[in-house]
Amino acid sequence: MADLMPVSEALARILSETNYIGSERVPLALALGRVLEADVFSRLDLPPFDASSMDGYAVRSVDLAEPGVILRVIGDVAAGRVFDGLLKAGEAVRIMTGAAVPSSADAVIPVEQTDAEWGGHPGATGSSEVTINRVARPGDNIRRLGENVVRGQFIWGAGTKLRPQDIGMAASLGLTDLAVSRKPNVVIISSGDELIKPGNALPSGAIYESNGVMLAALVEQWGGIATVLPSAPDTQEGVRGMFEVALALSPDILVSSAGVSMGAADYVKSVLAELGEVGFWKINIRPGKPLAYGRIGNVPFFGLPGNPVSAMVTAEIVLRPAMYQMTGHADDAQTVSAVTGEDIPSDGRQSYLRVMLSREGSLPTAHLTGTQSSGALFSLVMADGLLIVPEGVTFLPKGSQVEVRLLR
Ligand code: AMP
Ligand code: MG
Repeated sequence: MADLMPVSEALARILSETNYIGSERVPLALALGRVLEADVFSRLDLPPFDASSMDGYAVRSVDLAEPGVILRVIGDVAAGRVFDGLLKAGEAVRIMTGAAVPSSADAVIPVEQTDAEWGGHPGATGSSEVTINRVARPGDNIRRLGENVVRGQFIWGAGTKLRPQDIGMAASLGLTDLAVSRKPNVVIISSGDELIKPGNALPSGAIYESNGVMLAALVEQWGGIATVLPSAPDTQEGVRGMFEVALALSPDILVSSAGVSMGAADYVKSVLAELGEVGFWKINIRPGKPLAYGRIGNVPFFGLPGNPVSAMVTAEIVLRPAMYQMTGHADDAQTVSAVTGEDIPSDGRQSYLRVMLSREGSLPTAHLTGTQSSGALFSLVMADGLLIVPEGVTFLPKGSQVEVRLLR
């Protein structure tokens, strides 16, 4: 195992060669899931004025030192309007939720705490007097100017991935668009004479090609734009031709699956050596040891293993951090502590085992999802996460505390 590079070292090396991809401005309607290029500060106070948080009466709290006071109603203020007059002693103004509180008032009494009955049409009740059933303190039921956000306040850091509430917040701040990282273009290639595109009959000895769409889905999930090319035949020319077509698409990243092990038909590494540079191709990881990384010109190349589980796990471990670094996306991998539900032997490689989590004790228990064969994609379908067996560990007895990386 001495010739196998630790996962952490491989990752550090990959990241040291991965550069930020640049940014673009996008309208808010297209900003969901995008990654902010730079810190954002508020240009406004929110709320921008003292606003009523209830339908009721804007009052002067000094008038309401005891319950049962009768006030004269001198006007109305609806949301979006302002009341220009001045409240004098013993006066109130009918006010709606979200309306600006008159500057001469300092509290709002909800209509439910008065004798008024607005029914469905508060504006239509012309009563000129209201009895207030409670006392008031300054600030009651008022959302103060800037109580949510003050002008100049830090809202998001560069690298934030925008969620629906972030989009709403940006609009509240009056923004129409945001500067976000460009989406990396990731071209995905595969090779193998046994691979048949779904939709076609399956000859004996063949399997359906599944890595392409799966890797494309991961790339989309991680903020990239994926292009999947048809898989190439197992010949040196076939594989080289596929690389050339892929490179003609000017990808930001090139990803292949299969063809990096030691088999007679494994041409990916030799084509990579021909067209670019092989960085390294032996990483101390399971599943997925035959994992090649290199560059073709400026384009980083990831030669993932062909076995579907290995392809996805290695993509999680090396491709995702690279894509995140390219887009300045802060890492959001989630791990939880769990205990093993069974004895787990390991071979000393850093291992990522498919597990289901169940609530049994104070920590979740991790049970293997059946066979850990790297071809068994259903084991990944059933998995909640990947149990990490650290490098050098050869046995984890049942009940050991471990970290499980959650799969989305
Ligand atoms: P290889 O690295 O070419 O030896 O492939 C390893 C295993 O992964 C073989 O069982 C292949 O049939 C399988 N495999 C390779 N590429 C794909 C793919 N694109 N979709 C599904 N299985 C694949
Ligand atoms: Mg093959």
